[in-house]
Amino acid sequence: MNTVRQQGYDNPARENLVDWLRNAHAMEVQAEAMLKGQAGRLEHYPEVRARVEQHVTETQQQARDVEQCLKSLGEDTSTLKDTGGKAMALMQAMGGTVTSDEVIKGAIASYAFEHMEIASYTALIAAAQAAGETQVARACEAILQQEKAMAAWLAEHTPGVVQQYLQRERAGETSKR
Ligand code: MG
Ligand code: FE
Repeated sequence: MNTVRQQGYDNPARENLVDWLRNAHAMEVQAEAMLKGQAGRLEHYPEVRARVEQHVTETQQQARDVEQCLKSLGEDTSTLKDTGGKAMALMQAMGGTVTSDEVIKGAIASYAFEHMEIASYTALIAAAQAAGETQVARACEAILQQEKAMAAWLAEHTPGVVQQYLQRERAGETSKR
C-alpha cells in the first residue's frame, strides 16, 4: 500500500463519514418539507406553529452546515440539490391526504423524526471523531443539541396538543383539522 492510500484516499472512516453526511443532508431537506407542511396545518395551535417555524429556520441552517462539512472534506456538493428536489416532491405528494387528526399524526411523526435525527448525529459525531475530523464533529454536536431541544419540546407539548384537539372535536370544530 502506498503512502497516499494510507493517508486518506482509501480511508474507510472518512468514506463512511462523507456517505453519512450526504444522508444527513437529505434528511434535513426532508425535515424542512415536513415541518413546513406541518406548520401550514397548525393555524389553531399558534404556540406549536411558532416552535415548528423556529425549527424550520434551524433546519435550513443545519442543511447548510452539513453541506459546509462536506465541502470542508473536499466533497462535490453540486448533486445535493437533486436529492433535495426529490425529497420535496415526495413530501408534497404525501401531503395530499387530509384526515381530521393530521395534526396529531404530524406531532407523532415529528417526534419520531427528531429522534431519527438525534440517532443520526450521534452516529455522525462518532464517525467524525474516528476520522479525526474535529470540526465536523463539532458542527454535528451543535445540530444534535437543536434536535434534542426540539424533541424535548415536542415531548412536553404533545399532550396539550392532544387535549386541545379533543376539545375542538367535542365542539365540532375538527371537520378539516
Ligand atoms: Mg434537523
Ligand atoms: Fe430536527
